[in-house]
Amino acid sequence: MAFCDLYQDKMHEECGVFGVYDRDQLDVARFVYYGLYALQHRGQESAGIAVSDNGSILYHKDMGLVNEVFDDVVLNHLKGKAAIGHVRYSTTGASHRENAQPMVIKYKNGQMAIAHNGNLVNSAVLREKMEDSGTIFQSSNDSEVMLNILSRYRILSGSIEEAIIKMMEEVKGSYALVILTSDKLIGVRDPLGIRPLCLGKIGQSYVLASESCALDAVEAEFIRDLYPGEVVIIGEDGVKSIRTSEGGRTFLCIFEFVYFARPDSFIDGASVYKARLEAGKRLAIECPVEADLVIGAPDSGLVAAMGFSQQSGIPYGEGLIRNKYMGRTFIQPNQSMREMSVRIKFNAMKSEIKGKRIVMVDDSIVRGTTTRRIVQMLKEAGAREVHMRVSSPPLRYPCYFGIDISSMKELVASRHSVEEIRQMICADSLGYLSLGGLLKTPVGAGCRFCTGCLNGQYPLDVSEVENEKL
Ligand code: AMP
Repeated sequence: MAFCDLYQDKMHEECGVFGVYDRDQLDVARFVYYGLYALQHRGQESAGIAVSDNGSILYHKDMGLVNEVFDDVVLNHLKGKAAIGHVRYSTTGASHRENAQPMVIKYKNGQMAIAHNGNLVNSAVLREKMEDSGTIFQSSNDSEVMLNILSRYRILSGSIEEAIIKMMEEVKGSYALVILTSDKLIGVRDPLGIRPLCLGKIGQSYVLASESCALDAVEAEFIRDLYPGEVVIIGEDGVKSIRTSEGGRTFLCIFEFVYFARPDSFIDGASVYKARLEAGKRLAIECPVEADLVIGAPDSGLVAAMGFSQQSGIPYGEGLIRNKYMGRTFIQPNQSMREMSVRIKFNAMKSEIKGKRIVMVDDSIVRGTTTRRIVQMLKEAGAREVHMRVSSPPLRYPCYFGIDISSMKELVASRHSVEEIRQMICADSLGYLSLGGLLKTPVGAGCRFCTGCLNGQYPLDVSEVENEKL
């Protein structure tokens, strides 16, 4: 790969992170493996695990799903006291093995590994400054930038805690981090709390995970979400917490509730499932329609479709069958492949659809490709009318904080009105949930939200990265 490609290839990543500090004789690598399995929806492109064993860090990472990257032989080699893991999914640019995480470095004070979910908005500037002073990078990852800053401050200050706090003053963007040193597991959540990270416990051992569903998977008890700007240090003596932004501004990503997180997770006090159900109910109030059957786009629209049905009284049914053995549509690299893959992924249930007026609910429309294909499929299956309802507002702006929702020019709603989109997808009507309505759906979340992709109002200055996504 040409050197300049590293910059162009700067990934906008969707990821999941997981970590464990063992005080009960756990098999930490297998434990992380199961945790990553539960976070697979957050990234299917690469997976990796690093374990800390008597001062040295062993790791294995590769392209592929968790069960493709790891087998018994590999896991048997990864023995240690603490471990971190990462799943990653990126669509911008080609995928490269060197961008797989955890990133592991050797430096003056030993070894250190990091796994990152999120996206920095000033990493190009930081990277250039470091390169000007001779630093060499192996990847286009933000994580490597952070590792370099961390190792420098660690050498200067001597303490990993201080190094992390200094790094947090330099980097801008979203980051949920799990860091592994020779004797500690550390969790860090960015000062705006954009990406989620929670703490759990099993026996005397501590666990960190992007989502609470991964704690459930390993039978760990949920303790709490990390506070925005919090650093949690786990070692032999237990857990120590440092709050760097006391009662600061929080901007949790609203898209975690709309699409990204698993419905069985709780984030910052709110149930993802309940938020989606509520979004469907509000959608039925805001955009009512006379119809015979409500169906959801599997799996992303199913919960909201149920909410729509409960509120409207229109029966809920299964109208589309999804091929479970296929990855996400977006994995296909070009538009023609993407169109075909929709056909392979979904099929309409003719017996349920024929002759009916259908309300078809999905969580979002990004490019409009899948939606148009599905509407067409429903009509071919004999639907009399297809009314498309979307349980979030139009996605008009790019995300700079770690959700891959295309560049501005690919977002259909950035260039077209709702009526134009309706015509493009050949639906009989199209209705979106309002932003005000959506923001009321994560009931119990005691925080504000980043709504940048919906209204262009970002919680941080994005001017340094704006060009990448126009
Ligand atoms: P399309 O009609 O092609 O815009 O596709 C809409 C579908 O994309 C919906 O079912 C969404 O759930 C799904 N979607 C939304 N955001 C993403 C994302 N970041 N990655 C993959 N799929 C997404």
